[in-house]
Amino acid sequence: MFDLIVIGGGAAGFFGAIQAAEMNPNLRIIILEKTRKLLSKVRISGGGRCNVTHHCFEPTDFSYHYPRGQKPLKSLFRKYQAKDVVHWFEEKGVRLKTEEDGRMFPVSNTSQTIIDCFIRMADEYAIRIETGTNVKEIKETRTGFEVLIDGGGKFNAKKVLVALGGHPNVQAYECLRNTGHTVTRLIPSLFTFNDSEKKFKDLMGVSVPKGLVRIAGTKFLQEGPVLITHWGLSGPAVIKLSAWAAEYLYEKKYEIDVLVSWTGEMQEETVRKFLTDYKSEHKKRKILSYPLYELPQRLWTRLCELAEIEENKIWDELPNRNMNKLLELLIRCSFKIKGKTTFKEEFVTCGGVDHSEMNLETLESKKIKNLFFAGEVLNIDGETGGFNFQAAWTTAYIAAKEISRS
Ligand SMILES: Cc1cc2nc3c(=O)[nH]c(=O)nc-3n(C[C@H](O)[C@H](O)[C@H](O)COP(=O)(O)OP(=O)(O)OC[C@H]3O[C@@H](n4cnc5c(N)ncnc54)[C@H](O)[C@@H]3O)c2cc1C
Repeated sequence: MFDLIVIGGGAAGFFGAIQAAEMNPNLRIIILEKTRKLLSKVRISGGGRCNVTHHCFEPTDFSYHYPRGQKPLKSLFRKYQAKDVVHWFEEKGVRLKTEEDGRMFPVSNTSQTIIDCFIRMADEYAIRIETGTNVKEIKETRTGFEVLIDGGGKFNAKKVLVALGGHPNVQAYECLRNTGHTVTRLIPSLFTFNDSEKKFKDLMGVSVPKGLVRIAGTKFLQEGPVLITHWGLSGPAVIKLSAWAAEYLYEKKYEIDVLVSWTGEMQEETVRKFLTDYKSEHKKRKILSYPLYELPQRLWTRLCELAEIEENKIWDELPNRNMNKLLELLIRCSFKIKGKTTFKEEFVTCGGVDHSEMNLETLESKKIKNLFFAGEVLNIDGETGGFNFQAAWTTAYIAAKEISRS
């Protein structure tokens, strides 16, 4: 009989098991992992560097990065947040560094450092690990739980922490069927947009640092860097938009009109004034030679071409008709999106086990005592930038704190 069975040898499973052991070294803990590999997402995360968390130490601000789960996380981050994670890793000899955009990585620049840390800690606390162990069913017993695995085996424990991750397929949650928990609709999040016309394909690699991306006819809007790819649009603004509009996009079967403002500005009058002032101040300047809004030359040339502005035209000769076209292209450059493409293979699941069925102080199930949940298995997901791992660390820590009180 174990004190704790952790289902899933991923980020939340390891962190939860280690934290529980750290808080109560007497606990007998076992991690059951379906595959032959441990921490496989940690390994490939952040392009192999593991974007552990984000440099934002204000819980409310941090919670704004979660399209799903913002409310519960806001209070959970007050108990355990990014600063605590940085401190925890530092204590274990893993220093993190912050990149310009706030993402935090191990100084070593490799996810192996995080994996080594977890494996070492698990070993130190004598946490047993079973790989190739697919949990099929969780049964309540008089003394706790019986966890049944593929092939007929079973394990017993007083408490169970479910950390089986996010999956787009409901079958992956099969082992929870008996528990009576609701799995909400499962939808992919974090992806880039495919442009059906591929009209900027030859500009692939061009990016603007302060763009604005909107889904036409909706309020979904995000700002930030926009990157032109050979299949369409990518970059942080697009990926954030995919997360916030994940459910809408799914319903629209990923067929939408997207409007990009390359200027980062939406107000037509502001941009019109800028163009008019520029025109009167730089009458003799060749339009194509001096990109406005610090746009990359290739993009500026293309926008001018689409506005039918001839190569040698100077601002003084620019007819209103063409200026209006240019204005439109600068702030409402439209793309017919059909379909999505995974972003660097990184994705998360929007949806999962309904967190309203948990006690949000402890992440213990309201339906079954001593059954806990942590990580992406919950219907919690964030933007890209270290937010998904932070949700895994925080929920695992909160669950471990309660689990260790025995
Ligand atoms: C390519 C990629 C890169 C990413 N990069 C980042 C990043 O840099 N920063 C960031 O914040 N987020 C990133 N993410 C998201 C992040 O990896 C996940 O949100 C995070 O791993 C969730 O942790 P978890 O422990 O809940 O789930 P997982 O890490 O997925 O772990 C769940 C584990 O449970 C196991 N399991 C499932 N079912 C069973 C079962 N029935 N029995 C036993 N075991 C089972 C799975 O095999 C898996 O090992 C990335 C995701 C991907 C796909």
